[in-house]
Amino acid sequence: MATPIVTDGSTDRVREAPRVVLPDNPRLFEERAARFAQLAGGHPMGAYLALMAQVAGGQQSASGARAAQPLPARTVEQSRSFGMPPLSAQGHQRAPLWHDDLRDVVRAVRADGAPALQTALDRLQALDDVSLEAVADRVLAGTALDEDAALVPFVGAALQVYFARQAAALAADDVSHCDVATICPVCGTRPVASIVRIGAAQASLRYLVCALCQTEWNMARIQCSSCETDKGVHYLSLAADEAADATQAAVKAEACDECKTYLKIFNQEKAALVDPVADDLATLALDLLVDEQGFARSGPNLLFHPGTG
Ligand SMILES: [Zn+2]
Ligand SMILES: [Zn+2]
Repeated sequence: MATPIVTDGSTDRVREAPRVVLPDNPRLFEERAARFAQLAGGHPMGAYLALMAQVAGGQQSASGARAAQPLPARTVEQSRSFGMPPLSAQGHQRAPLWHDDLRDVVRAVRADGAPALQTALDRLQALDDVSLEAVADRVLAGTALDEDAALVPFVGAALQVYFARQAAALAADDVSHCDVATICPVCGTRPVASIVRIGAAQASLRYLVCALCQTEWNMARIQCSSCETDKGVHYLSLAADEAADATQAAVKAEACDECKTYLKIFNQEKAALVDPVADDLATLALDLLVDEQGFARSGPNLLFHPGTG
């Protein structure tokens, strides 16, 4: 991975840090499953979060079960020439491999019962390939229909596994050409959230996390992740007493007066196990608060569709 000089906007520090971090942690989904399970305890949406722990467990099984498909050399060349994301969520020709990932996710959920879900899972498994690809296209484009709602978390989960696996197989040089700061340099998807990291080179730096392929890319703090302004950015929080609740203290909504959007920012310095996807779903109350103030959320969570909760 290239190590360009990155300036952290919150201080005058200049350091060497990776601009892009590919999703090569082999335990990524296992760690997310553990976080979902931890957050589910005593939570008003505990049943949903526990179900998502099973989904993430299925993602972990799927993730290790098969290898990435080689990308055509022409795709990588074109991406370099035009500064385009090499695995564009909209343009990438998905291999049917992701259907196997979906089967693993569904199997993990079925294995633990969850009788209320059987109808949705039956419907999902009865879809022919054309219909399934159409649902996937809508999930990726953010245009899922009401009738897709119950299927979205499973299709979204399988697509995450597939795109993360493909992303992890890229070389650093393959992803260094797309410099649109507000979308994923690998797949062009908006971030689910941003996270202030701990540990080694990334410590205290803010990374945006792709909602789809889980790639992370650096952006200065106190800068809008949607329109890139550093004016009119402010933070909203649910934590009345930060000392009393580490999970709540670790999350804020970064809201921008210029473009009227927001995205959550998680701080690993306050809760080391915080996960951008799991903690996002565990803090939907913050979304409600910020929505009420007239801000629209700028990035999706592919494990959620309004009506699935
Ligand atoms: Zn991505
Ligand atoms: Zn903005």
